[in-house]
Amino acid sequence: MKLLCDHMLGSLAKWLRIFGFDTLYPDATTDDDLILQLAKHEKRLLISRDKELIIRGKKVKLEVLEIQTTDLHEQLAQVLTHIQIDCTQVLTRCTLCNTPLLSVEKKAVKTHVPSKVFETRDQFWYCAVCNKYYWMGTHYENMIEKINELTNKNKQ
Ligand SMILES: [Zn+2]
Repeated sequence: MKLLCDHMLGSLAKWLRIFGFDTLYPDATTDDDLILQLAKHEKRLLISRDKELIIRGKKVKLEVLEIQTTDLHEQLAQVLTHIQIDCTQVLTRCTLCNTPLLSVEKKAVKTHVPSKVFETRDQFWYCAVCNKYYWMGTHYENMIEKINELTNKNKQ
């Protein structure tokens, strides 16, 4: 499922990309009309904290998800519960530009990542558009654990 987060949900959009979801995140200059059009045209779930936008989305028969909390963990758990997918596909998409990441061999990244990272990690990914390398840091692992906890709680 493809997603669209409104401009109030930047951190959520970033983490949804980390979890592998094709997530559109329009910048602050994109007006509501265009956001609705994009969601409709690309069949994206509209995720928003803006009540008015949610109401307008429903009127044009978009699938919508209204976020009420400002807590990032709860926001993520709410989205994952709504679309009934667990966060298993981590680090498949660039957090900056939404491009699918390429898996790269460890020996190819030696000069591109900090030496401590190189020593302690074995899996690396690369965004050819941003020329940026990714690896699974402890903050990813902590986030996944936290989200799994919350989505399991939501299921009960
Ligand atoms: Zn990128």
